[in-house]
Amino acid sequence: MRLQKLSLVVLFFCKSILFSQTSVPNPVKSDFSGTLSFLASDWMEGREPTSKGGFKAADYIASMMELYQLLPYNNSSPSKNNTFFQDFNIKRHAVQSVSLAIDSGNNNTILLSPKSEYKVTPVDKSSKQEAGIVFVGYGLSVSKENYDDYTKISAKDKVVLVLEGYPGYKDTASVGFKKFKKWFPEENNLEETKIQNAIQQGAIAVIFLDVTGNFKPKSTDNYTFDSLENPTSLSIPIFRLSAPATEKILTGTSIQLAETEKKAAQQLKTSSSLLKNKKCNFSIDLKSETFPVRNVIGMIPGKDTSKSIIIGAHYDHLGIKKDSIYNGADDNASGVSGMLALAKNWSASKIKPPYNIVFASWTAEETGLLGSEYFVQHLDLNQQKILLCVNMDMISRSAPEDTKQRILSIGTQKEDENLRKIAAAGNQNLQNPFELDLWETNGHTGSDYASFTTKGIPIMTFFSGFHADYHSPRDQAVKVDLNKEKDILSIVNSSVLQFIETHSTTK
Ligand SMILES: [Zn+2]
Repeated sequence: MRLQKLSLVVLFFCKSILFSQTSVPNPVKSDFSGTLSFLASDWMEGREPTSKGGFKAADYIASMMELYQLLPYNNSSPSKNNTFFQDFNIKRHAVQSVSLAIDSGNNNTILLSPKSEYKVTPVDKSSKQEAGIVFVGYGLSVSKENYDDYTKISAKDKVVLVLEGYPGYKDTASVGFKKFKKWFPEENNLEETKIQNAIQQGAIAVIFLDVTGNFKPKSTDNYTFDSLENPTSLSIPIFRLSAPATEKILTGTSIQLAETEKKAAQQLKTSSSLLKNKKCNFSIDLKSETFPVRNVIGMIPGKDTSKSIIIGAHYDHLGIKKDSIYNGADDNASGVSGMLALAKNWSASKIKPPYNIVFASWTAEETGLLGSEYFVQHLDLNQQKILLCVNMDMISRSAPEDTKQRILSIGTQKEDENLRKIAAAGNQNLQNPFELDLWETNGHTGSDYASFTTKGIPIMTFFSGFHADYHSPRDQAVKVDLNKEKDILSIVNSSVLQFIETHSTTK
């Protein structure tokens, strides 16, 4: 009995030494300032993923991982790979031409102009289709409110017309507003919800209608975008119409948008209907090319190699445009240099962590989170459990309104109260704590954390604020705030240590 007690005490003591704040020292400025400057130097040519500068950056990151004695990480069998590179291909698509027309029969066709009447978000293949059209109101299915725009209508193989907003969004006194506002507190995930609904219902394209007149399309000429070679998620083309174009295509139908919105706001009634005798014709012609790119991934193996904690940051940026180098010092040489500084200290501590600590640098974040998506796609989650992914994206600047340069935003999933507590505790350990903006990432896709949340992996994402140099050639190393980054890295470090401690004791 005594002995047991004693061993418990000893165990607890050992553990608290292992994972106390001092077990892995927090990075100091010299641990990351040099790597940040070099990654953001002109030698890296803006680190565009497919360019020479992108590959130079990857080589440099790998060389630092080697210097810090990390092991190469292989998704399916950790440490059985002898390179830090995870190579894969992306496709770059250039939109050659698009067309969108509504055919009402009897040679009555409305051809809309891509220069002034709509904007298209294409998918990764050329397509040419003709399909029936259904109007699906707001395109929402909210079972908890007994509201479903899709109950009375089939959208299978159809093009769906969808309104912006939700029932009552324009009228704060309406029944609709009171019911629905809580489901869509921040409207930026609303559109994605509608697209996913349409895909689930079997629609082949979405056309968003504009009733406010706020949307002004610009020409789609020379539009390019990237995708993975083999994307796993299904997507469909999205068209956004201007208000005049919206009016044009609804002429001659029984759909009255003002009436529809009123009915939805006041009586929560849906007005979905099939547009009889109308067809939608659209075509998107792409020219696609394939390019090799690479993620860079190292690890410190844990006692239990079937579980991992990831500390990651994308290394790519925008490259060279019109003879200007986009150095991307804050976005995201700051995050990568922070990841490498943590790798350095974890490795130097000689601690064998209970789980693998994976240090990841993803590519092609700027063009759609492609590197992290590929990484996640190729995880064998049955063999390899990811306990936590910490993402750092832009951690060295402050927003202009943050006059004291002490605001830090940390995103977690809605349900992760524990992670929020851990972050807040880490902040309180600082000499000069940040003003924390703890936000929920649910429905957001602003950085690589989103590739993990879609697989249900817990995340923490660190971001120090939008500044006027964001995505401009002015985002340079001379402007970064090394003190701010240092303090952020202390919170990241203590969060990982604390997470390990609580994870091993609550299990
Ligand atoms: Zn970024």
